Amino acid sequence: METINKNEIKQGNVVDLTHEGHGVIKIDRYPIFVPNALIGEVIKYKIIKVKKNFAIGKLLQVIKPSEQRVEPPCKYYWKCGGCQLQHMTYDAQLAMKQSQVTNLFHRKAQFSNTIINKTIGMDHPWHYRNKSQLPIGKDRDGKAIIGYYRQRSHDIIDMDSCLIQDDVHQDIMNHVKQWIIDYDISVYNESTKKGLLRHLVIRTGYYSDDKMVVFVTNGKNFQQASILVEKLKETFPNITSIKQNINKSHSNVIMGEQSVTLYGKDKIADQLSDTTFKISDQSFYQINSSQTEKLYQQAIEYAQLTGEETVLDTYCGIGTIGLYMAPVAKHVYGVEVVPSAIKDAQQNATLNGFENTTFVCGKAEEVIIKWKQQGIKPDVVMVDPPRKGCDETFLQTLLKLNPKRIVYISCNPSTQQRDAQILDSQYELQEITPVDMFPQTTHVETVALFERKS
Ligand code: SAH
Repeated sequence: METINKNEIKQGNVVDLTHEGHGVIKIDRYPIFVPNALIGEVIKYKIIKVKKNFAIGKLLQVIKPSEQRVEPPCKYYWKCGGCQLQHMTYDAQLAMKQSQVTNLFHRKAQFSNTIINKTIGMDHPWHYRNKSQLPIGKDRDGKAIIGYYRQRSHDIIDMDSCLIQDDVHQDIMNHVKQWIIDYDISVYNESTKKGLLRHLVIRTGYYSDDKMVVFVTNGKNFQQASILVEKLKETFPNITSIKQNINKSHSNVIMGEQSVTLYGKDKIADQLSDTTFKISDQSFYQINSSQTEKLYQQAIEYAQLTGEETVLDTYCGIGTIGLYMAPVAKHVYGVEVVPSAIKDAQQNATLNGFENTTFVCGKAEEVIIKWKQQGIKPDVVMVDPPRKGCDETFLQTLLKLNPKRIVYISCNPSTQQRDAQILDSQYELQEITPVDMFPQTTHVETVALFERKS
């Protein structure tokens, strides 16, 4: 094989893309991963790392560009860690996500008969984030900055715009930054663990006009809160809620467990289809509302409810999926581990007048065993775990419950594929639809339909 040495400059054809959106060049069968290179391109690159099974290259020049290459519209794109695919056309992004799922399920597992549909995309794949979580820090001159983290680091990039978040978020972000400077408000330092303001979290309703601003602080004492509240109310009279969340932990977790309402309502309201939801600052809520409707629509189609079914909504968050299904189900049981989210789910059931729902706080893997012991026999089970996928006990209990159908939503298709192999003993994985919840990024969301083998 040709030798490959660090710092060597080479030219090659890009033959594939990884799930991180990196171009792949092969020398014999040895892969070289080159970030920002696209399939079909001829590029000049420099080898920056050589390992036994692969190397990493740095793109130096695109000699023959792909038709899928576009100029990234965001001025921070090349340094910010928020987006990874702005240099690709949106159609190419959607195709890449579909092919990633096909690769995982058809080639790397036994599901070659499963239909993998085209990725459901957005008409306008920008400004979709209804929630922004922005770290606050200081630059080298001690001036306050707010933005997103640089790629693979915790350095904050001082930003005045972000093309994937709701427009009003950047307006709020820029004003808050100026007030922090003007009033010399204490800012948290990740290395010394000292200072007050850690994150600015902004949430906006999609159908509602609700807007929530949360200041995450390293401690309770927030003397200058009143200045920020007054300034926010004056500049953005349509803000409906201002909160302080206290996070004294030294971890990467953004929110702490305690929140105080500084002004207005303690939750924001939103609507998906005909169902209204109230959302606490600490509860999970899908960040791309218009795509969430498409995702849930696909899930409900897969569930094929007639009104007679007992449905489990596992990993239910604030109960969005279960409440979406309640009008066409006999009874919905939901489980979720975060207490404030389950409280939201219970209140949301009342708010929408549903009497056929039961929401329980606990670990899905434990509560599902209790449900089995209580003799609950689900017809359809909705599964929507976090990135790490399902606990094996959960899946084993699910197999014993033996519902007719399982609809599994995932934000990480590789753990979904792993879990599908356990369900495979009793269920046929019929179809998977990727839904683009996170345009311009490599994140892939999927919804999968499993039917009981007869
Ligand atoms: N179905 C919801 C939430 C999906 S996100 C929606 O569409 O909005 C995944 C949820 O699983 C989060 O709310 C998280 O708090 C919850 N979770 C994580 N681990 C869990 C576990 N072991 N048992 C139950 N819920 C869990």
